[in-house]
Amino acid sequence: MNELKQPSEIAREALKLLAMRHLPPTPANFQACYNEIAQLPNVAQFPESPLRQIAAGLKARDDAQLRHLENLDAAIGRRSWHGVQEALLGFIAAAAKPRECIEVNVAAPALPGEFASRLASFVESVLPALGEENERLGELSAALLQVLRQPVVDVEAALGILKGLSHQATFAAEEQVEIKASLLNLLHLIIENIGELSLDDSWLKGQVDGLLAAVSPPLTLRHLDEMERRLRDVMIKQSEAKNRSIEAQEEMRQMLAAFIERLATINESSAHFQGQIEDSTRKIEKISRLEDLAPLLREVVDATRAMAEETSLSRQQLEALQDKVLKTEAELVQLHLELDNASALARHDPLTDALNRKGLDEALAREIATYRRKDTPLSLCLLDIDNFKRLNDRLGHEAGDAALVHLADVARRCMRPTDTLARYGGEEFVILMPDTTLENGMEAMTRLQRELTKAFFLSGKEKVLITFSAGVAQLGPEESGGDAIKRADQAMYLAKRAGKNRVMSA
Ligand code: GH3
Ligand code: MG
Ligand code: MG
Repeated sequence: MNELKQPSEIAREALKLLAMRHLPPTPANFQACYNEIAQLPNVAQFPESPLRQIAAGLKARDDAQLRHLENLDAAIGRRSWHGVQEALLGFIAAAAKPRECIEVNVAAPALPGEFASRLASFVESVLPALGEENERLGELSAALLQVLRQPVVDVEAALGILKGLSHQATFAAEEQVEIKASLLNLLHLIIENIGELSLDDSWLKGQVDGLLAAVSPPLTLRHLDEMERRLRDVMIKQSEAKNRSIEAQEEMRQMLAAFIERLATINESSAHFQGQIEDSTRKIEKISRLEDLAPLLREVVDATRAMAEETSLSRQQLEALQDKVLKTEAELVQLHLELDNASALARHDPLTDALNRKGLDEALAREIATYRRKDTPLSLCLLDIDNFKRLNDRLGHEAGDAALVHLADVARRCMRPTDTLARYGGEEFVILMPDTTLENGMEAMTRLQRELTKAFFLSGKEKVLITFSAGVAQLGPEESGGDAIKRADQAMYLAKRAGKNRVMSA
């Protein structure tokens, strides 16, 4: 058994041990040495072995981190908490440093091949939309595509080009937006000018108003398509009217020429007649016997009869000419009326501005083509106003017309911009709903029903509730538009039979 040492002696020896082991003279180290000499259990032992385990688990990624691990090892050996702390903080900070600031001793990760090829296709498909005016953009995208198409993509290089490219793309995109806006402005100006040139033509005025509405932003392909069709209508109708006017003018000119010719003959005939009468008068003056007078009188009577016949013929011819003039005039008036009635819009119903049957046929063909190309669902609805005859009988035909306009307005308000409204018949409408399943189509029509109960139709001061019955069909893979409408019509009929004011699926 060791003889017990005095605490002062133990303390002295503890200091010696500290110095011998090169330990920092911290209270913990002193305590540990003291306890060791006094053979006392070390209450606050330095956790050397767990720390070494931690240190062994840390892997240096570069020289800097390796240095910090060596420091950690030394700090554990010195039992220096401060050293451990510093080494660990240093190790963590080195790990967080940006890559370019550290000496890389591992290869940079490669860009996955699919990512690079998709990025390249993206750049290629987006580029045309940004226009060709920006040369730098073209150069950068060509450079990027070249880098991206290498078997092993240089990430650093791709990133550098991409930065410049996105900068240029921002400019180019802004420029394209401005170009589009200016073009639209220009188009507006042109259309307004056409409108002002033909102020007296109400048909053209209607078309111009439609065109102006069609070129108002937001501009969609559908909008532009619509505009193109309307412009074509304007051009066709205008050239029709122009040709007919030229023809009518030519007819008038020919008639006028015939009339002048006629006048000249009348003058000639009357001059001849005048001469004959004067001649007869002179002869009569010289006559002394009555029997000589008889042949002279016959001459005068013949001349007068010939003149009368000539005059009557001329009058008949003139009357015929006048009739023809009046007829041509009436024809021109009729032509203008027809142009007006062809309604402001050859593909639009003039009352509701919904598409007419012709417009519907075209729209349906277009939507079906899109449906087949994109394989997205296309639904259509046929709706028929309930008890419309009663509304007409009670409030008058004009109120009936206004009710149709009201329904079309409410429908347009709650339809999506991609949907199409067409007037199918008197009080029947068809709504085309691209990208819409049967279920969603049913929901849309129920929404329209609800909307109509909120938005009353006002006839004078009377609030009139308009309801409709509807059938909704989703176009089948091989089905024609006409067959789908037929199915929707049958479902609409069932809705009528079931008590009206309801939507049924086909
Ligand atoms: P149901 O609920 O069964 O559909 O009955 P309904 O009265 O609505 O149907 P019906 O087919 O018997 O009558 C339709 C009426 O719609 C008859 C016709 O005078 C009227 N109509 C059709 N086109 C127009 C239009 O352009 N303007 C007006 N005011 N009425 C129209
Ligand atoms: Mg009907
Ligand atoms: Mg009806």
